[in-house]
Amino acid sequence: MDLNRTLVIAPHPDDESIAAGGLLQRAIAAGGEVRVIVVTDGDNNPWPIRYLKKKARVTDADRAEWGALRREESRRALAALGVPTTASDFLGYPDRLLTTMARRGDLRVRDAIGALIESFAPSLLVIPSAFDLHPDHRAIGWFAHDVAKGRDIVTYVIHGHPPHERLAFRLDLNAEEAARKRAAIECHQSQLVLSQTRFLSYARPVEEFFQPEFDIARLNSRIHDWGCAMKHAARVVTRRGCT
Ligand SMILES: [Zn+2]
Repeated sequence: MDLNRTLVIAPHPDDESIAAGGLLQRAIAAGGEVRVIVVTDGDNNPWPIRYLKKKARVTDADRAEWGALRREESRRALAALGVPTTASDFLGYPDRLLTTMARRGDLRVRDAIGALIESFAPSLLVIPSAFDLHPDHRAIGWFAHDVAKGRDIVTYVIHGHPPHERLAFRLDLNAEEAARKRAAIECHQSQLVLSQTRFLSYARPVEEFFQPEFDIARLNSRIHDWGCAMKHAARVVTRRGCT
């Protein structure tokens, strides 16, 4: 893998640390340049907001405040990993609505990602997998494959079962790398409010990256068909309703 120019795309603040906290460190240590794109602010997160604010109704202002907090947590996490402050882009697209936008033919996210990929010209592009169960992750995987034809891509799965038969490479972190990755994950304090055990379990000393998915991302088909193909690939639904 050529880590000379490594570009990581994270749907939400925290995905960068969980998926590639070790890979980013390894790329920087080897003298490579890195870039991280965080597509949403992860602000559509009502349960911890309700818990912390002790109220049932989450307002737009609450969400904006939460999004700003999560963005700041991500900045701190990237600093813990050694990523320069100028090497990240926060796009602020709506959390949990990326697939809905795509279904409506709104391709702003795809185009924004495409422009950033073009300008950075990565030697390796690290993107979410179609096997991930989170729809924002799948939407971004689809967008990135659509705009990055011909580039070296690896994919990652955070929610659900990774496709081990498609493993591209596995990174075993040394003790120092693992400690920094854990420190980065712990910067995301907002995510520890209701799910500390689950969230900290992401701080594993191994990262797995999978093959690109041009073969299963049906880029020219209708998005409904694509969504069904992804669900079948992830083995989470039967064919009912997807024919
Ligand atoms: Zn995510």
